[in-house]
Amino acid sequence: MFKKSLLWQLYPAYLSITVAALFIITLYLSRLLPEFYYDQVVDNLRARAYLIEQQILPDLKAKNVQSLNDVVRKLGKSSSTRITIILPDGRVIAESDENPAEMENHGNRPEFRKAIEKGIGRSLRPSDTLGTSMMYLALPLEEQGQMLAVIRTSIPVTAIEENLKHIYHRIVLSVVIVAICAAGISLVISRKISRPIEQMKETAQRFASGRFDRVPIPKQVELAELAQALNEMARQLRDRINTITRQRNEVEAILSSMAEGVVAVDVNNRIVSINRAAAKFLNIDLTEAKGRTVEDIVHNTEFQAFIQGILNDENSCQTEVVLPGRKDRIVGLNGTTLTDSNGDKSGAVIVISDMTRMRRLEDVRRDFVANVSHELRTPITSIKGFAETLLEGAFKEPEKAERFLQIIAKHADRLNAIVEDLLSLSSLEEGRQTRKITFEKASIRPVLDSVVSMSTIKAEEKDITVELDCAEDIEARINTVLLEQAILNLVDNAIKYSESKSTIRIEAHQSDDMIRIAVRDSGCGIAKKHQNRIFERFYVVDKSRSRKLGGTGLGLAIVKHIAEVHGGHVTLESSPGQGCTFTVHLPAE
Ligand code: ADP
Repeated sequence: MFKKSLLWQLYPAYLSITVAALFIITLYLSRLLPEFYYDQVVDNLRARAYLIEQQILPDLKAKNVQSLNDVVRKLGKSSSTRITIILPDGRVIAESDENPAEMENHGNRPEFRKAIEKGIGRSLRPSDTLGTSMMYLALPLEEQGQMLAVIRTSIPVTAIEENLKHIYHRIVLSVVIVAICAAGISLVISRKISRPIEQMKETAQRFASGRFDRVPIPKQVELAELAQALNEMARQLRDRINTITRQRNEVEAILSSMAEGVVAVDVNNRIVSINRAAAKFLNIDLTEAKGRTVEDIVHNTEFQAFIQGILNDENSCQTEVVLPGRKDRIVGLNGTTLTDSNGDKSGAVIVISDMTRMRRLEDVRRDFVANVSHELRTPITSIKGFAETLLEGAFKEPEKAERFLQIIAKHADRLNAIVEDLLSLSSLEEGRQTRKITFEKASIRPVLDSVVSMSTIKAEEKDITVELDCAEDIEARINTVLLEQAILNLVDNAIKYSESKSTIRIEAHQSDDMIRIAVRDSGCGIAKKHQNRIFERFYVVDKSRSRKLGGTGLGLAIVKHIAEVHGGHVTLESSPGQGCTFTVHLPAE
């Protein structure tokens, strides 16, 4: 539908009312004015007729036509009036301007007939005799109830008509001027009424586009109240939008800083919100994900089925899935349905949490318990077996008894070594967690000197030389006891797995911001396939050899832990038959 602005509704209405009023007034005046003028003329003519009446009566009664005509002509001249005396049968007996003898019968003249019928007759018409427009008034002249004649007075009305025409022109001119003024005033008034409403409309449109300007308060009470209501509405809207924006920013900040992934979908399975962590878990582009369906963008059937399940029937559920990628990830999915304000299902929200580490830790713990049990069971079984054999009578044979007791003592030593190493590991872990391990800036050289002297006996047994290359001034924040234990473990291993008469080198160097302490041997070395796992607890390359050499399989795990509590790490370079180089890397501060 065609819509007009308020101004173009008000203005034509005002204008047409004004123009219609002017038109009616003009019409009324144009009718009233001639009537008024002609009434005056008629009154005038009537007064003249009465005056004439008395003056012609004697001649009329005496039927003195000549004298009557003289009187009539004289009166007509002096009063500028045409006077006609008509007998009741219509014959003109006297006339001021013409010769009555030449005049036709006036019995059919309208003013004459009206005068006969009603006692007075008037008529405005062109004169049959003179041809100009005339006002005629006819009055019967009676005496003692008998009509003697009809006196007709008339004057030309051309002057009046001229006058009226002039007045009409003026009226029309005034009406046009008034109409133009009215048009202007109507426009001003219409504008005055519509302007504040226009302003409010514009302000409301700005509200819609998010700009909350104040509406100026108009003078009209109703509009002022409307403007105040709009201003109040704007204030409340601004407050609410600010609150919503702040809350949204908070939610976004929380979501984007969460380690857990959060995905929200609508009922059509379209992603409405997704945080950075979720995009990373699902291996998708965060900027492209919004608005697309899960099937479109997440190529994991288990994940798709999980969301579909929540959307279709279940209200909430949880499961664990493996998300394939560079490193397979085990993730926990926790889903709940979303409802709108009417309580209807409007989508679902899924929280994705990384379970990989937890599951791996569980695996490590399970393996560790199994390994510990297994490692402890062997010496315990031996001790039990040999003790039982002794009890069963072997102790009576001194030679056997001594050998059995030596075996029992050896297994007890092994048990002791395992328990010692386990305790070291657990105290390292505890110290790491509780941060109870103390560190101080100290020189590395004395620690390595002490390791060399502690390993001398074992090295000499195999005729192995331990060389040390370490500058005096290398310093680091260390726990000397722990570092000593780590390097001693490495040197012990080097001695264990090296041929006799070989050389072991301990080298400490500082480069950039790292201190590297390397223990180099030329022993049997370690094959590539074992190198990744060599630092795991109880992992050994050759079980029987390790056991024979008194190993527990925990030495390198302890080294790794000690390096890590110092904020460093340990690496291995080796190939079978070429010896090993274990390097402890420590931050130089
Ligand atoms: P173990 O007490 O058995 O020595 P470790 O944790 O110290 O346990 O070492 C684990 C395994 O790594 C050893 O069993 C051995 O096979 C291998 N290994 C460690 N150090 C060396 C080395 N210097 N040369 C060759 N193999 C080594």
